[in-house]
Amino acid sequence: MRSLDAEMAAHVQRAAEAVGVRVLLSVDVEEICAHADGRPRSVKTSVGELPADHVVLSTGVRPATALAQAAGLALGPTGAVATDAQQRCPSADGVFAAGDCAESFHRVLRAPVNIQLGTHANKQGRVAGTNATGGRVEFPGVVGTAVSKICRYEVARTGVTEREAHAAGLRVASSTITARTRAGYYPGAGPIWVRLVVDPIDGRLLGGQIVGVEGAAKRIDVLASCVWNGTTVGELEFYDLAYAPPFSGVYDPLLIAARQATNLLDGGTRR
Ligand SMILES: Cc1cc2nc3c(=O)[nH]c(=O)nc-3n(C[C@H](O)[C@H](O)[C@H](O)COP(=O)(O)OP(=O)(O)OC[C@H]3O[C@@H](n4cnc5c(N)ncnc54)[C@H](O)[C@@H]3O)c2cc1C
Repeated sequence: MRSLDAEMAAHVQRAAEAVGVRVLLSVDVEEICAHADGRPRSVKTSVGELPADHVVLSTGVRPATALAQAAGLALGPTGAVATDAQQRCPSADGVFAAGDCAESFHRVLRAPVNIQLGTHANKQGRVAGTNATGGRVEFPGVVGTAVSKICRYEVARTGVTEREAHAAGLRVASSTITARTRAGYYPGAGPIWVRLVVDPIDGRLLGGQIVGVEGAAKRIDVLASCVWNGTTVGELEFYDLAYAPPFSGVYDPLLIAARQATNLLDGGTRR
């Protein structure tokens, strides 16, 4: 779960272990061993040989650019096809690129990225199609919002993680809160963790991660809107978010997280 900071990924790890998954971290896969008929038999690793009936490789994604390169299209710094905001390929008049093969502008990093999601591909395809047929519309960029369901948890992220921010040379501060998904006395409440990554100078929200038994996947959209618009945690702290006991405490976990994050700001900047 490199898409989360380690502290948040640990919740996902524990949920996987709770259903019997053995998680081995920082272990090298050295060889996949097969029976004579080709079926997998085991996987050799740096901590020993593990028996295996099935082997699933899930090692990340890369843009498939062979066709684009063969056609003479320029790739950008991420290795994906470079485009402008209208999804035009600057290197070839009349050619457009969209989706997994193309770069997107990241609104927090202020740099091109290749984040392969259907949410980006659909919008970019629409932009490319509109411009290719005589219209004029621009794709405004991405903030890296993604959700998934892993074992008992909804897992969500937007903007940048602390690790991604450091890798990009951004100065950030982060804090995490633990809350309940419903009012404490309401049946069925479970844990939810919210981590906010902020600019410590002006308080802008630069990223958020949420892991919880319910309500994480759609709550992330509030944080995505804040990151998109440059909202500060001081503003978010007083957002008029909905409350009723089946859905949250009277202070939504996002508001609690924002209030805590204001303590991270240099000189107590609050807006
Ligand atoms: C298992 C899985 C789950 C996912 N879940 C989500 C999710 O929950 N949310 C989300 O936002 N995104 C999700 N994604 C990502 C999302 O599916 C992709 O980002 C999206 O489909 C990309 O669209 P695309 O049009 O760029 O590429 P694709 O959907 O891959 O379409 C490319 C098409 O081009 C065709 N093609 C390739 N080469 C050639 C050629 N030489 N000539 C002609 N045709 C060619 C391919 O056959 C394919 O049909 C998921 C992806 C996977 C694999």
